[in-house]
Amino acid sequence: MARSPDHPIRVSIGDFELTSLSDGIYHLDGGSYFGVVPKTLWSRKLPANEKNLVPSGLNSVLVRTGDKNILIETGIGNKLSEKMAQIYGQPAGLLDSLDAAGLAPEDIDIVIDSHLHFDHCGWNTVRRNGAIAATFPKAKYYTQEGEWKHAHENQRDGVSYFTENYDPLVESGQMQLLRGNAEIAPGISVEVYPGHTRDLQAIMVRSGGQTACYISDLIPTSNHLDLNWVMAYDLYPVESIESRKRFYSRAIPERWLVMFTHDHQIPWGYLEKDERGKVVLSSDFKEV
Ligand SMILES: [Zn+2]
Repeated sequence: MARSPDHPIRVSIGDFELTSLSDGIYHLDGGSYFGVVPKTLWSRKLPANEKNLVPSGLNSVLVRTGDKNILIETGIGNKLSEKMAQIYGQPAGLLDSLDAAGLAPEDIDIVIDSHLHFDHCGWNTVRRNGAIAATFPKAKYYTQEGEWKHAHENQRDGVSYFTENYDPLVESGQMQLLRGNAEIAPGISVEVYPGHTRDLQAIMVRSGGQTACYISDLIPTSNHLDLNWVMAYDLYPVESIESRKRFYSRAIPERWLVMFTHDHQIPWGYLEKDERGKVVLSSDFKEV
């Protein structure tokens, strides 16, 4: 994949080691991706093909804390129907990416889903001998209870939820449903940032006075940093903007490493404000 050579795929946050993993690239409609932003503006940053599709990464992050291996997000997975696979593609690269980082599914202790849209939790489960099984057999899985309830409401984004990605895990007790901000392990916590969905949770990684944040679909790529460049998929776009303000008010002064869920070139980076006050990616990626 065409990842920027300026952005290493392994970084340290204090005592923790973070590795950027990928389930591959899929394609989304450019108009949906950039909401009310005119194509003349967004296509300069991310050119569309003849079908108006743009490439979108499926980025997971492996956090090694020393005594735990934590997987943030699980991509699209390998269970899409033929029709869905035709629309989006099904690159199914996450387990290879994990293998390249030196780990097997059995080595994962904790899996955290920011929310339950199909392109964020697909590898939670696999189909094995006709039944659904946990891909990461020893892991405890986490998401927000409100998100899980919403996944069953069949609202505007109902087509993006597949129960087989989470219900079997909730039924078996392997997935824990959280009510709001929570610490999951020392240095690993979640914070709710509403907008894309009501209960989307960002994943915070803190060690040695440094912070990294997987902000997920609230700011899906480095091309979506402008406060108002909100995806058409967002259920509460005005709240997305408020959540982004709250996020930037901490991420910029505290110099958080921001992890992008769908950027196919830049998995993470630091943010700053330019001379006009617009939020931009820092040109220098300083490994911390
Ligand atoms: Zn989503």
